[in-house]
Amino acid sequence: MNKKVVIIGGGVAGLSAGIYGQKNGYDTEVVEMHTVPGGQCTAWERKGYRFDYCLHWLVGTARGPFHDIWRETDVITDSVKIIDHDVHTKIFDEEGNSFILYTNIDRWERYLIEIAPEDTATIKKMCADMRKGALLELFSDPPELRSVLDYIRAICKMPRAIMLMMRYGNKSCRDYFQKLNFKNKRLSFFFDNLYGERDFSALAFLMMLGWFYHKNAGYLVGGSLPMVERMTEKYTSLGGKLTLGKKVKNIIVEDDTATAVALADGTVSKADYVISAADGHSTLYTMLGGNYLSGQIEEAYGTWPLFTPIVQVSFGIDMEIKTEYPVQTHLAKGRKIGGTPLDMGYTIMNYCFDPTMAPAGKTVMVVRYESPWELWKDLEGEAYETEKKQIEKDSVAIMEKHLPGITAHIDAIDIATPKTDVRYTGVWKGAYEGFMPTSKNITKSIKMTLPGLKNFYMCGQWLFPGGGLPPAAQSGKWAIQLILKQDKRG
Ligand SMILES: Cc1cc2nc3c(=O)[nH]c(=O)nc-3n(C[C@H](O)[C@H](O)[C@H](O)COP(=O)(O)OP(=O)(O)OC[C@H]3O[C@@H](n4cnc5c(N)ncnc54)[C@H](O)[C@@H]3O)c2cc1C
Repeated sequence: MNKKVVIIGGGVAGLSAGIYGQKNGYDTEVVEMHTVPGGQCTAWERKGYRFDYCLHWLVGTARGPFHDIWRETDVITDSVKIIDHDVHTKIFDEEGNSFILYTNIDRWERYLIEIAPEDTATIKKMCADMRKGALLELFSDPPELRSVLDYIRAICKMPRAIMLMMRYGNKSCRDYFQKLNFKNKRLSFFFDNLYGERDFSALAFLMMLGWFYHKNAGYLVGGSLPMVERMTEKYTSLGGKLTLGKKVKNIIVEDDTATAVALADGTVSKADYVISAADGHSTLYTMLGGNYLSGQIEEAYGTWPLFTPIVQVSFGIDMEIKTEYPVQTHLAKGRKIGGTPLDMGYTIMNYCFDPTMAPAGKTVMVVRYESPWELWKDLEGEAYETEKKQIEKDSVAIMEKHLPGITAHIDAIDIATPKTDVRYTGVWKGAYEGFMPTSKNITKSIKMTLPGLKNFYMCGQWLFPGGGLPPAAQSGKWAIQLILKQDKRG
């Protein structure tokens, strides 16, 4: 008889764990509280428009360990079309001055030097750092399965990228840009505003640009929903059992061994192994009652900053609108949308590059901004509805400002707030990618096992500062690799 693995959560991490579990001869069951799988990686339909909530760029569209996983889980198949945008975003200040972030570092270098010839040496240094960031190759096995030789090999293979890690692993973007000290006012203004006051890791920024440079972080046509549908189809076709609309209340532990999960409807699902791919905080503090915490976990959940939640206002527009760039960021610090004073500004995204998002001759556009959880956590009933109405009014005004006359063509509007995200996925404080990658945590990850608890593994975005789809999927695979090792099969 195959051993049974119960996986809590049917997001990308849970589906990945399920696929690798089935491939390796386990009987798996994914228990998902929502009526559809996907978690944060999702989209919804309104009046024939598809409003996507997640996928903008997927690391691993071309090569590397993430790419292998995308292939093995059917996220990328030969028929999936991948788009590599030339421009990541075009940023505008309030006076309309603009600044482009190209995905090709060579192109970007030329552009920056055109703007600021006086900063040529500094620009070249920054772009050289980014090219080194592109050399960084990630491990394909979990830390528990790596040997000293694996680390030595990595150092020999990419010495320049390792130096970059050592140099900038504990620096924030703010420190990094301040140290570069651009003379040109336009450059220093936009770089200073790119990540605002927050401690966002310089290394994460350099690596991101490196991935774009190698065309290894593209967009999958169709977006989040078809991507998750392909994973789900892969999982069920391998014989996996997907239980939807069932919430896990707690993990049953006997003699410090996870033996089953108890569902909110009173049923119990027994298991040889339990993997939680659900929200990290609720797994540790609710489903396990805070009984199996390590010092590292307490430090992370107690002190590491979280991603600020977002509000997404999606528009179905009954005409074709082409914009030059897929994403435009408008700096508008201190201005308000609804009750949220903006920390940096807002973005406007036009999905015109993906014909599957809207009926022919129509367009999907999205306004998105950050809104702290504190503003939402106690907002209920009428106050919540009033806030949504104000957001709608303010967002329509924003669209009208940038595209005069558009209001008459708005055919559908949908507002997803941080509360929407929490309601459907349980994500802690609406932090849609978990812990923010900072100068203090970027080189750290949280262990997949808990001290003193046997037959239990954690996976998903909460183990890795920065979150995102690739580490979520990879950790699902890693959980199965650790189980194979425990069963002396790996
Ligand atoms: C607006 C937005 C844009 C993003 N853009 C990108 C991007 O471009 N590229 C990228 O790589 N990443 C992006 N991300 C991040 C990415 O979506 C997440 O990091 C990733 O989907 C996390 O996957 P996960 O499986 O770890 O967690 P989740 O997606 O949170 O899945 C957890 C699952 O567990 C379920 N669950 C929770 N509690 C229970 C319970 N008690 N019982 C049963 N089920 C439970 C939830 O319903 C959910 O389905 C974006 C996210 C958002 C919101």
